[in-house]
Amino acid sequence: RRPAPDPGPREPVSTLVARPGIAEIDPYVGGESAIRGRDRVVKLASNEGALGPSPKAVAAYIEAGKSMHRYPDGGCVALRSALAERHGLNRDRIVCGAGSDELLSLLCRAYAGPGDEVLYSEHGFLIFPIAARAAGATPVTAPEAKRTVDVDAVLACVSEKTRVVFIANPNNPTGTYLGAADMRRLKDGLSDSVLLVVDAAYAEYVERDDYEPGIELVDSAASVVMTRTFSKIHALGGLRLGWCYGPPAVIDVLNRLRLPFNVSGAAQAAGLAALGDVAFTEESRRHNATWRAWLTERLRALGLSIGDSVCNFVIVQFPATPGRDAEAADAFLKERGLIARRLAGYGLPGCLRITIGREGEMRAVVDALGEFVG
Ligand SMILES: *Cc1c(COP(=O)(O)O)cnc(C)c1O
Repeated sequence: RRPAPDPGPREPVSTLVARPGIAEIDPYVGGESAIRGRDRVVKLASNEGALGPSPKAVAAYIEAGKSMHRYPDGGCVALRSALAERHGLNRDRIVCGAGSDELLSLLCRAYAGPGDEVLYSEHGFLIFPIAARAAGATPVTAPEAKRTVDVDAVLACVSEKTRVVFIANPNNPTGTYLGAADMRRLKDGLSDSVLLVVDAAYAEYVERDDYEPGIELVDSAASVVMTRTFSKIHALGGLRLGWCYGPPAVIDVLNRLRLPFNVSGAAQAAGLAALGDVAFTEESRRHNATWRAWLTERLRALGLSIGDSVCNFVIVQFPATPGRDAEAADAFLKERGLIARRLAGYGLPGCLRITIGREGEMRAVVDALGEFVG
């Protein structure tokens, strides 16, 4: 007979108490990347760039590895200079972060705390409530109309406690956007003591004349910040790199609050190379536009309801009928090695979000959903 396993030392009971709000955080759950029992999967759950990173970014990353014993440039000067030049901005009004997530979270910590409210829209990005609660503030959601940010509804939810308003434009997971005039109206309806954060993670994919990523809005006010990321069009999600453009006072606050070496040298080097590879970025944008249109049309032809997305994903609404619903569709896709994103956490349990991938991946999705519906 085997001896009973040693139970080990008993864990001491903790009497430590975290700050208010932290226990209420629903930790972010990313898109799945594996299916049990399958070694090859198609991951379309996290809006990662379909074509992968630019080969120039990969080369720069490998080169940067040779000096990984050195601390990075804490000021990200080369990268900020390149971003400033590309977008016609003052580099002193740019801050880089370990993903734009870091910047969204720092902005909350800087401007909202216990007793304050952080406002965003109903199907807004899930990092917003996490950042709000982490700062001890209360997240508040404004209802949307047709799965689009409703300016009047947002303004109606502003109270004297509102300190930060987050608008992802365009928004994930709805794929919808607000035009420049609507964003201006939203800004004009807010007091200058409320920080408006425009999260433009998908800006590079938008091909609409009335869209403005937020730069003009930042330039017109002292209380607007725009955040951007290298995770989507530049496909560097694994390196964690984002940036923001804002008024000098906000930039000063972020530079005090952020950690001194918040962006790794490898991320800075790869980001600089990715930004410089204009032809690759253009190819990624064209690929996305082509296959987003194709996927939308094919899925509509199957009778599925698809929103008009301006991003690198589409959102598919399934009927509520058991066996035909989003849960069944997700299971059906998984059996074929295809991973989409369930959206129950975003208040959209009847929908799946599907990232635009390579041609073969898109054809596989359409074939599988055709079989599912058929
Ligand atoms: C993907 C995404 C981001 C980017 O996050 P990173 O931290 O930069 O990877 C930001 N906002 C929204 C709405 C997103 O979907």
